[in-house]
Amino acid sequence: MFELDTIAAPATPLSPAGIGIIRISGPEAVINTDKIFCGKVTLAEAKTHTIHYGKIMDGDEIVDEVLVSVMRGPHSYTGEDVTEINCHGGVLVMKKVLSLVYSLGIRPAEPGEFTKRAFLNGRLDLSQAASVMEVIEADSEAALKNSMKHLKGSFSHEIKGIRDMILHETAYIEAALDDPEHYELGTYGDKLKEKLQPVISRLQNLSLSYREGSLIHNGIRTAIVGRPNVGKSSLLNFLSRQERAIVSNIPGTTRDTLEESVRLGDLTLHLIDTAGIRRTDDTIEKIGVDRALASIDEADLILFLLDSSRSLSEDDIKLYHQVQDKQVVLLCNKSDLEFHRDIEEFCRSVNCPVVYFSTKTGEGKDELMDVITNLFFHGALAGAEDFYVSSERDKLELESASHSLELVCGSVDAGMTEDFFSIDLMDAYTSLGRILGEAVDEDLVNRIFADFCMGK
Ligand code: GDP
Repeated sequence: MFELDTIAAPATPLSPAGIGIIRISGPEAVINTDKIFCGKVTLAEAKTHTIHYGKIMDGDEIVDEVLVSVMRGPHSYTGEDVTEINCHGGVLVMKKVLSLVYSLGIRPAEPGEFTKRAFLNGRLDLSQAASVMEVIEADSEAALKNSMKHLKGSFSHEIKGIRDMILHETAYIEAALDDPEHYELGTYGDKLKEKLQPVISRLQNLSLSYREGSLIHNGIRTAIVGRPNVGKSSLLNFLSRQERAIVSNIPGTTRDTLEESVRLGDLTLHLIDTAGIRRTDDTIEKIGVDRALASIDEADLILFLLDSSRSLSEDDIKLYHQVQDKQVVLLCNKSDLEFHRDIEEFCRSVNCPVVYFSTKTGEGKDELMDVITNLFFHGALAGAEDFYVSSERDKLELESASHSLELVCGSVDAGMTEDFFSIDLMDAYTSLGRILGEAVDEDLVNRIFADFCMGK
C-alpha cells in the first residue's frame, strides 16, 4: 500500500445535471469530509460502503443538501479511503463544494489519478487500469464488451497463467542444474518445446488480434470514393442520418473531404467523403482531389461507389484501378433505379465484394455490415470467451514474449544447454510482466494515466 496524500476532483462533468459527484480519496478523505459535513452520523464512525444524508456547511452557511458515500480502503476503487459527495448537479454549487474541499488542504486530482492509485495499490493491473478509459470511451457495443472483458481481467488472468508456467519451468531448470542427482534433464528440452508451442501460438494470435482490436476501439477509417454524382455525400448522410454534407446534382460540389464517425451495427466507421475525384483545373477543387487521394492511402477500407443506373465511364474504371489493391467494397448505388447492363458486367469482373445499395431506400445496409464484418473480423466479432488486444503497448510486449519463447525452442533444437533456456524464458516472463505493470518506469505509467479524463 502506498502512502499518498489526499486528492479530490469532480467525478461528473461541471455542467447542469440532476446530481454532481465530488470524489475524495486518500488517508484524510473521511476526516476531512467530516469537517464540512453535518448529518446524523459522524462519517469517521460510519461503516464502510454506507451512504449518509446531510448538509455541506461553510461555517454557519448551508452550501448544499447532499448524500455522502463512505468507502474505506482497501475495498474501494482506489484501494484507499474514499468519500463521494453527491451534490445537486449545478455548476456553482459543485464549484462551491469543491473549493471548500480544497480549502481543507486536499489537493486537486490529476486526470486519471484515482485509477493510477488503484493500480499502485494493486487493485487493478496496468492492462486493466488502461481499459478503464476504453470502457468510458467505448462508442460501440463491441468496443464496450471488449473493454469490459479487459477490465474484468480475462486478459490479465491469461497472461498471469502463462507467466506462472514460465516461472515453474525456469525454477525446474535452476533446481535441476543445482541438484542434478534429484532432477532429470534428459529429454527435458523436447518436453519444454512441446509445452511452449501452443503458448507461442496463443501469444501470436493475441498480438495479431490487435489489428481487429484497434479497428473496434478506434473505428475503421473508411474512404468513400467514386466519381462525381454517384452518391458519396448521400451515402455519408444516409449512414450518419443527418444532413452533414452538401448534396447536389452539379458534379464537383463536394470540394473537400468531410469526415464523420458512424455506427453500422457493432462497427464504428470513420467515414471520409472524398471530393468527387476527377482531373480538374479549379484550384479549390484540386486541393480536395489531393486530399481525397491521400485519404485513400490512409484508409483501412474503401467504399467504392458506382452509379448503377448509368453506363460505366473511363473515370470509374481508372478510379477503381487506383484503389483495387486496398480493402475495397464495391457499392453499386442507386439500386432503386433501373440497372445499366455495363454495371453488372463490371461487377462480375472485379474480385472484391459487391453490394447493391440505395441511399434512397436503405437497400444493402445490412449486407454492407455483414461484408465489412467478414472482411475485418473473419465473419464475426469475437464471442463471449475471447477478446481482442486493444493496446499497442500490450501488442509489442506479446510479440517480444513470443519471440523469446521461440528462441527457447531454437535453443532446444540447436542442442544448447538448459541454462540458455532460462535466459529467454525469463525475458518472456519480464515482457509479460510489463503488460501487467511490473517493472515499468514511472514515466510510462504517468503517460498512460495522463490520457484519462478528470475524476477517474
Ligand atoms: P456525390 O457527388 O458522389 O457526392 O453525389 P451526391 O450524394 O451529391 O448525389 C448525387 C445525386 O444522386 C443527388 O441528386 C442524389 O439525391 C442522388 N442519389 C444519391 N444516391 C441515390 C440513390 O441511392 N438513389 C437515387 N435514385 N438517387 C440517389
